[in-house]
Amino acid sequence: MSLISKTIKKTFINQYGAIKPTWIHQDDYYKLPFNYCDRWCERCNLAKVCRVYQKEKERNEEFIKKGIDINSSEALFSGLMEDLNETKAMIEKDMKRLGMNLTKKDLEISEDKETLKERLVEKDSLKQISFKIYHRYLELIDDLQNYFLEEIEKKEIKKIMNILFYYQGFFYAKIQRAIFSEVEERSMSDDVTFDAKTSGFLAYVALIKVINALDQLIIHIDLEKLKTQILSLSKTFIKLNQILEVRFELNENVK
Ligand code: SF4
Repeated sequence: MSLISKTIKKTFINQYGAIKPTWIHQDDYYKLPFNYCDRWCERCNLAKVCRVYQKEKERNEEFIKKGIDINSSEALFSGLMEDLNETKAMIEKDMKRLGMNLTKKDLEISEDKETLKERLVEKDSLKQISFKIYHRYLELIDDLQNYFLEEIEKKEIKKIMNILFYYQGFFYAKIQRAIFSEVEERSMSDDVTFDAKTSGFLAYVALIKVINALDQLIIHIDLEKLKTQILSLSKTFIKLNQILEVRFELNENVK
């Protein structure tokens, strides 16, 4: 049986964007909501106060002024480069302040450590299971698109399909991050970020939304084979969530 109450699950279904994990302090959540969100800003009730979203809006306005399509790869890479340069400048400033100087050897050691962590993630059975489930999900989306064809533009179908499209890669990315952070946190004496737990939580919440969307979609389908495919994947998502609950101790309050 699931460890998280039905009431909380209902909240997860209706709330998009930022969602506060119980172990994160209220002040931290409101200061940095983008650490606890699915980046679905248009649906997020903190969009007005979120500086990540505000910055993205300003950047998009700049792109539009320059005649660049905000959904183009040019806009994507230009935004990424800007963020990377900003982060690099911040790190360099802090290193200077702390009198730190990284040698080539330090960088090589750091790269080796990262590679080792990535290998541990690759070997993790949860990562491997999630990868297979992710591919089953992609196949189902393909089949659904073929089944609905032009009906996909119907308001009620489109609404559900948008949710399925949105979370198709999200839960898998968050599970990978949760495993990676778990490896990192093992070597920390005092973990204050709860990144593994929070990433596991965000994957969990996304899966609840997907399960719910599939539940709503099935009533629009007559093809038995497709219905069976949906039910089977839903059951798999429920099992995956049970694994996440236990592995990342999602029922425990930390703060
Ligand atoms: S506005 Fe967007 S980036 Fe900010 S918390 Fe909400 S979903 Fe995240």
